[in-house]
This record gives sequence, C-alpha cells and structure tokens, in this order.
Amino acid sequence: MACITCDRSPVWRELSRAAAKSAGARLRRLGILPLKIDWPARASICERCPLRVIQGRVSYCGRPLLDQIRRSSSLDGCGCPTLDKAKDPHEHCPLDRSNRPARRIDGRCSCKWCDS
Ligand code: SF4
Ligand SMILES: [Zn+2]
Repeated sequence: MACITCDRSPVWRELSRAAAKSAGARLRRLGILPLKIDWPARASICERCPLRVIQGRVSYCGRPLLDQIRRSSSLDGCGCPTLDKAKDPHEHCPLDRSNRPARRIDGRCSCKWCDS
C-alpha cells in the first residue's frame, strides 16, 4: 500500500527517496549490497562536471539535497553525494555528454555514464 503522506507531498517523496538512497549507500559500504563495478570511472566523470558541488569535503551532484529539496535533476543535479551515487548500480547521471537532460532512446540511456 502506498504511503499517503509521500504520495501527496513532493517534499516528503523526495525526502523518502533520499533516505532510501542513504540507507542503500550504508549497506553498500558494509558490503551487503553490490557496487557498480566501474564506479571509479563514473566518479571521475563527476569530478569534471559543471554541476558538481563540494561542501564539507564531500562531492555532491549539485547542491546537497537538504539545501534544495525542490529541484530539477537535469538543471540542479540530484543532490546526492557523487561517490555514493556512482557506486549504486541503479543510478544514472541526469545529463548527457553535452550537459543536456539525459534520455532513454530505444531502451538505451544517453547519460554521461552510460554513454562514456
Ligand atoms: S551524476 Fe552526472 S550531473 Fe551529477 S555530478 Fe555526476 S556527472 Fe554531474
Ligand atoms: Zn545512464
């Protein structure tokens, strides 16, 4: 059954999504969930990205989520730590090589990570 609060509020939905991602990153650090094998290549793409923000010695995809909850991931980044994001096999970059919004075309992802 869907959570009524999360379904009604985009803010709660974003916070719930961020909490789930954070829990996943913790399980990945403990070796309980798998890492994306080529995550260092993804992380190095983030290091050259214009959306990347460094705050408190942590690299983020855009400003950290809690600093800006309402956002467009292709304009603002997703707000996740880039290392955790790069290690998650289910994640994609929101941008393509030209820093335009990434798309799925015939089942293929055009994001910087998948297209590199
Ligand atoms: S995930 Fe994509 S948009 Fe975000 S910092 Fe990395 S390269 Fe940039
Ligand atoms: Zn992708």
